[in-house]
Amino acid sequence: MDRDARIFIADNHGLIGEAIRRRLRDDGYENILGDSGKPSLIDARELQEFFSRTLPEYVFAVGGKSGGIGANQKLPADLMLDNLLVDCHVIDSAYRCAVKKLLYMGSSCCYPRACLQPMQVSSLMTGVLESTNEAYATAKLAGIKLSQAYRQQHGVDTITAIPANVFGPGDDFGVEDSHVIAALMVKMHQAKLFQNDHVDVWGSGAPRREFIYVGDVADAAIFLMNHYSSPVPINLGSGSDASIREIAELIKEVVGYSGELRFDPKKPDGMPLKSLDSAELLALGWQPQVPLRLGLEKTYRWYLENCHRKCLTS
Ligand code: GDP
Repeated sequence: MDRDARIFIADNHGLIGEAIRRRLRDDGYENILGDSGKPSLIDARELQEFFSRTLPEYVFAVGGKSGGIGANQKLPADLMLDNLLVDCHVIDSAYRCAVKKLLYMGSSCCYPRACLQPMQVSSLMTGVLESTNEAYATAKLAGIKLSQAYRQQHGVDTITAIPANVFGPGDDFGVEDSHVIAALMVKMHQAKLFQNDHVDVWGSGAPRREFIYVGDVADAAIFLMNHYSSPVPINLGSGSDASIREIAELIKEVVGYSGELRFDPKKPDGMPLKSLDSAELLALGWQPQVPLRLGLEKTYRWYLENCHRKCLTS
């Protein structure tokens, strides 16, 4: 991408989109489209009109609603419909306006529940999905397949990245619907403030997740836009995983909470293990920069500066 390339980040001010936007600006990309009035991604006509008017050359397709295990169980239809609509509209509009390249952001939920670990892209579509996020994962798989189909039939240069569990500044810090790191950070922060003697942690604490800091995801997405072109999805991971219990202990340290962590086995564990084989990305010369502990510290600092008051009163 040239520094004056027309770039559209198709998102709803989500965690990943905002990080890509910040990173592009820091790197001197000047022509980021949609800053003064973004189109609705679920309105096909409005989006197509926006594409026709602004003619993006590069599209980061990182829109579509997502949430943690609670949101996936409560709102499967909302999450699935939103992602299907957004993906159809963004990918088709990109094709109709002859973009140079589109990066589709997949999800590690797309891998089968009983996948061999670390998960390789050859395992996609080889088994049954995890039931707690089946609807969302099916929509994301459809997005991957759709972007591959546009490459095959229309020659659009679409690529897919599959990130590990993303966290960082800009995350949704609601307690019920958010992903595990944001949820536990808020719960422990509130427990510290109100001197509660324990915090409820869902599930057994045994599942393992590979987490990646959102700044690294943004960096890798821009790297892939510049260096990768293939119909084969590429994994985007940090290379290390941890159990939910270990994560909870780390967050406790970062927040400075001294109470008890009480695991609630009545809440779902979800997939037992999600860890990505990112050898291909590393072989291209990309490396993550932010280790887990530092990422958690940056995230907590952002939360304190940006939303703990709002979150406390909502
Ligand atoms: P997933 O990786 O797609 O399953 O989504 P999450 O980011 O929501 O992580 C879910 C895992 O974290 C499950 O093993 C949950 O049992 C565990 N967990 C523990 N406490 C919480 C919590 O307060 N919120 C969420 N979302 N997950 C929690």
